[in-house]
Amino acid sequence: MVYDVIVVGGGGSGLAAAVSAAEHGASVLLLEQRAQLGGTTGIAVGSFTANGTSLQRKAGINGDDADAHEQDAGKFPADEIEARNNSQLRRFFLSHTSDTLHWLMDMGLRFLGPHPEPPNRVPRMHNVIPGAKAYIATLHSRLLKLGGKIQVNAPVLRLIQSEGGAVAGVVASIAGIETEVLAKCGTILAAGDYANSPDTIARFKGERYRDIEGINPHADGDGHRLAADAGAKLVNMDITYGPELRFVPPKGATFQQLLPARGVLAQLMAAVVPMLPAFVMNAMIRRLLVTWQHPEDALFDDGAVLINREGNRFCDETRWPDREISVAAQPSKECFLLLDEALIERYSVWPHFVSTAPKIAYAYVADYLKLRPDIAKTAPDLDSIARLRKLPKENLRAAADSAGLKGNRWVLLGPARAWFTTTEGGAAINQSFEVLDEAGTPIPGLYAVGQNGLGGQILWGHGLHIAWAITSGRLCGKALAQRAS
Ligand SMILES: Cc1cc2nc3c(=O)[nH]c(=O)nc-3n(C[C@H](O)[C@H](O)[C@H](O)COP(=O)(O)OP(=O)(O)OC[C@H]3O[C@@H](n4cnc5c(N)ncnc54)[C@H](O)[C@@H]3O)c2cc1C
Repeated sequence: MVYDVIVVGGGGSGLAAAVSAAEHGASVLLLEQRAQLGGTTGIAVGSFTANGTSLQRKAGINGDDADAHEQDAGKFPADEIEARNNSQLRRFFLSHTSDTLHWLMDMGLRFLGPHPEPPNRVPRMHNVIPGAKAYIATLHSRLLKLGGKIQVNAPVLRLIQSEGGAVAGVVASIAGIETEVLAKCGTILAAGDYANSPDTIARFKGERYRDIEGINPHADGDGHRLAADAGAKLVNMDITYGPELRFVPPKGATFQQLLPARGVLAQLMAAVVPMLPAFVMNAMIRRLLVTWQHPEDALFDDGAVLINREGNRFCDETRWPDREISVAAQPSKECFLLLDEALIERYSVWPHFVSTAPKIAYAYVADYLKLRPDIAKTAPDLDSIARLRKLPKENLRAAADSAGLKGNRWVLLGPARAWFTTTEGGAAINQSFEVLDEAGTPIPGLYAVGQNGLGGQILWGHGLHIAWAITSGRLCGKALAQRAS
């Protein structure tokens, strides 16, 4: 089989690359290892941070640009992390975010916002309706319309490389058979991150992080391995987004996954949602907030304690990341947050919230009790709480005593686990998305986008990872297709 472009991975960056290549006339094969498309993009919230957009202008924000955005993006990470950022590449990326957003809007996607997220000096966060799976559904249908070929259940096993190092295509397992596929213009690695690759995490970040898993259990760093095997330089592999404590998601489909991502219902939602009163919007967003969000550190500073499945305290709750490392070492890697009466009262009104999407919505104790009864239990005494969760009551009492917790109302939130949200290491690339070797020389025929090809950028804050995934895919797909013509 021969195609102009082969794309490895069917998440946000891979689909964007395939659509863009097909739009510009290339024949495209997208290979996805799983039975369905989506990757981490498909389980994300969906925020897309961009500057100079039509939605900003509509909201009266004029003159925002990539220079201002680049300065603000640098204020999210700690100084020592930001010092390792590839600022040229990030500035280049940020100069293309609005074109990407408009490209998506032209395909029918609708966004709420822009929402503020300091230290961004102006609102830049655009939130796709109803959630990130809309990116997948829309790009998927567009790719099919353009005649792109998609092969699921088709993990790419290795790259086909000449003695001189040029990449000519891939070997994938298609219907269980090892199959060679050649690419005339290039092979694009779009295989996501390595948040759930214990070996990669242990090797680059340290053995003590090995037991912390990635939120996406399939984020196994395959694309990084493929790149490294071809001679790529990997950059910033020890930098991760997280670990963070997060509550386990509801069993079955989450609220977000149940919302229509395509078709008439989705269009209706997109038209209606911007007209909804703020309190209705807030209620919807709050429901999303109790799905994947992590409890605020302030809870622990104020005295909330962590309990394991045996009812015991096991760490200093105020020390990140030791707290997360300890959680991963507990039975079934799970913990619960114990709140006494005073904490419940405090975390019932602004500015004391359990979790948040900053400046958009806040979730309080009552929201968890109402919207997540599976992970939020309340009772007037500790013994009843212990019974509800089958925890040894003597241990729970000892844990509460050790922290001075008391009163006639108790809440237990959890299970929560420690997770890496994503990883910031990627193949070194240039502004043509060519993968670079240790000497900084492009490996002919090999390209990388999304988390696979972060190229040393630090994309902290909300919304830059998806913006990069889709922007890098769009630009790379177009560039390769132009070679085909
Ligand atoms: C809970 C959560 C919420 C998030 N919310 C946001 C948000 O709101 N905004 C934001 O900007 N970022 C968010 N992020 C991060 C963001 O979603 C991701 O960084 C981004 O979507 C990654 O896109 P990608 O295309 O690089 O990778 P992915 O979307 O993970 O796609 C990679 C694909 O490659 C496939 N693959 C892997 N190996 C192979 C192989 N060998 N052969 C074939 N296929 C392979 C995978 O199965 C997967 O489908 C969130 C992350 C999480 C976990």
